[in-house]
Amino acid sequence: MDLRSDAVVLFGVTGDLVAKKLFPALYELTRRGRLDMPVIGVARSRWDHQQLTTAARKSVLEANGRIDDEVFDALAANLTMLSGDYADPTTYQRLAEALTAARRPLFYLAIPPAVFTPVVDGLAASGLAARGRVVVEKPFGRDLASSYALNQALRAAFDEERIFRIDHYLGKEAVEGLRVFRFANRLFEPIWNAEHIDNIQITLAEGFGTEGRAGFYDTMGATRDVLQNHMLQVVALLAMEPPAEAGDDAFRAEEIRVLGRIEPLAPESTVRGQYAGYRDEPGVAPDSNTETFVATRLRIDTPRWAGVPFYLRTGKLMPGTATEVVVEFKIPERALVPGGATPNLLRFRLGRRDGITLSIQVKEPGADVAGHTVELPVDFDAALGHRREAYERLLDDALDGRHLRFAREEAIAQEWRIVEPILDLPEPVAPYARGSWGPAQAQALAGHWHDPR
Ligand code: NDP
Repeated sequence: MDLRSDAVVLFGVTGDLVAKKLFPALYELTRRGRLDMPVIGVARSRWDHQQLTTAARKSVLEANGRIDDEVFDALAANLTMLSGDYADPTTYQRLAEALTAARRPLFYLAIPPAVFTPVVDGLAASGLAARGRVVVEKPFGRDLASSYALNQALRAAFDEERIFRIDHYLGKEAVEGLRVFRFANRLFEPIWNAEHIDNIQITLAEGFGTEGRAGFYDTMGATRDVLQNHMLQVVALLAMEPPAEAGDDAFRAEEIRVLGRIEPLAPESTVRGQYAGYRDEPGVAPDSNTETFVATRLRIDTPRWAGVPFYLRTGKLMPGTATEVVVEFKIPERALVPGGATPNLLRFRLGRRDGITLSIQVKEPGADVAGHTVELPVDFDAALGHRREAYERLLDDALDGRHLRFAREEAIAQEWRIVEPILDLPEPVAPYARGSWGPAQAQALAGHWHDPR
């Protein structure tokens, strides 16, 4: 199965993910000559072709601010709509008829997790699964047991090499760049350990709330939404040992090994918060105990990380939108600077305006020999130019049957094992003000958080 797919089927084509990410990705792939194939949108809504192309055009315009009509027309010529119910076998029969010419269709499940299994079963019963690939969105299950059950359902219909589990952080250039940064720089690898690193902090902050999707969010919460997947993937990349051999398989195996050394998260080192007014949003239970914020301390039981805390926090309605890792180095034992030195910080910006900033100590001008912090910033846009969006890269990879940037089943299972003790805790969530860094208790957890810029 190493040939490129020859059709794309988007289940949930009327939804938020398709509008925000997948239409713009399909447009970019069309521009680059990577998508001359049928694209079939499936949904319960009875959209016609006009509605479909109007929605696609709006998405591209919103994502890019402009549109190349020639490129868009080429995409629109490939788009068709198929409306139907996911529980109705005739939906899949009609889809099979539309796909008679396709030998390797790619099925993208851009639908709520509750519908994953019925759709996979429908694809299997109609015979479509036997020749297709499937892309499954996160969250992959709700816990270890349900992710296992989802895997069983997928495996019953698709061989493992035809299953693509998305964690779109793995498709981000800046996240993938951690691999090069860590292992291709002689400067850092020798000090990337407990002897030299004091702590590592990861903040995934969203400056927005539930954006009209509170009902769905209320069944999830921050731990399931981003901590279990995106944030733990970043931890794995930061903390893994160098693979003993070259190649992607060895690399992924090492990532899974380090995830296996992360201790399960402890409720007593975790703070769950909920922003003011959340319970008043449509679709949210009036007594909802769902966390819109979570901060936790994580430990990794390897010699490299003995005693080094990893602090993770994520939340909605934070002071801004940013994903940052801050590696705080230890202060030299004998800094020989009156009043002591300030720690070196290595800051990875993984979200918008991605890049790296290293802070170092220089001499404060003047008669005294005092330290002064300056920053050495690299802005990736300025240094590297345009880089492709995560969803565009991931779709392209899935069409080619390439697994490198997709989450492995074992990695997902480890991630659920790690977060399981803090899922659905009965203790009430702590309230926090909109636009703040979460409940006060979270501040105390890390001693000192380095806020994103
Ligand atoms: P939506 O809530 O927008 O739903 C997508 C579509 O699914 C809807 O337009 C609707 O279409 C259909 N749908 C909704 N409820 C049901 C139901 N009960 N049964 C059958 N069909 C239903 O989801 P998103 O687009 O936000 O997300 C899709 C997937 O991607 C989810 O698994 C989500 O977790 C994941 N994801 C989403 C992200 C995002 O930014 N939105 C980011 C990362 C992952 P219709 O009624 O027309 O059939």
